Amino acid sequence: MPENNSATRDYTAWFNGDHAARRYTLITLVCYALLYGQFALGLVGAMPLWTLCLTAPVLVVRWMFAQHELFHLRTAREVDPLTRLLPLMLTPLSLGYKEYLHIHYGHHRHMATPADPEYFQLRSGKISGFLNALTAPEQAYLRWVMRNPVDAELIIGMLLRLALFSGLVWISGANFWWYWLPVRLAYGLAYFSFFYCLHRRGAEYGVYPIKLAPWQQTLFGLLFGQDALLGTCHHDAHHQQPRVSADRLPEVAL
Ligand SMILES: [Zn+2]
Ligand SMILES: [Zn+2]
Repeated sequence: MPENNSATRDYTAWFNGDHAARRYTLITLVCYALLYGQFALGLVGAMPLWTLCLTAPVLVVRWMFAQHELFHLRTAREVDPLTRLLPLMLTPLSLGYKEYLHIHYGHHRHMATPADPEYFQLRSGKISGFLNALTAPEQAYLRWVMRNPVDAELIIGMLLRLALFSGLVWISGANFWWYWLPVRLAYGLAYFSFFYCLHRRGAEYGVYPIKLAPWQQTLFGLLFGQDALLGTCHHDAHHQQPRVSADRLPEVAL
């Protein structure tokens, strides 16, 4: 057990390990399977397409949280090819695991400063923050290719993701909107919640804990999982100890 001196506390016993990495990998893969499996069932008429409006937000947020935890556990070379491709089809041109991991490490290293790769959505007011979160997949891609060398892996992954996205549009036709609108809206709202709402208070920039009412905690936990609830409410502790598992974050001394 970690000692009780906050300055010298050893948190290694609370770090996520291989079991957590396997679990979060599995969650991301199951989210892909459920999301695209349900869309396929909707397209063949086996279930109503509108049900995606209910399930897509849950799956997208669960996927986002699992993906985030995985960034702190596995390098791009340590994940399987599908996880590395990062085939959540949000936009035609998109980044893969390696690039998003790099972006997230930049967020930790330069949190809420102009050098933070996520700063574009933190600066300015709430409305522009929300609009930037809604367009984050496109902005992340453009900002990456403008500022970093584009290597062969990114080109191959980008072409594969473009083929998947185009194939989905081609197969689903006008029904594509039943998939794309709830997924993009959920992704944008979650991005806004995970960045702007956790790193801005009025004119201030930093990282802040979130206090939810008991019923909000229950609802959040049921929909998105206890890990996501604790990871969101204690994001300040996550920035202090990024490798500590979400269930131990409330105990991290700040
Ligand atoms: Zn953060
Ligand atoms: Zn993180």
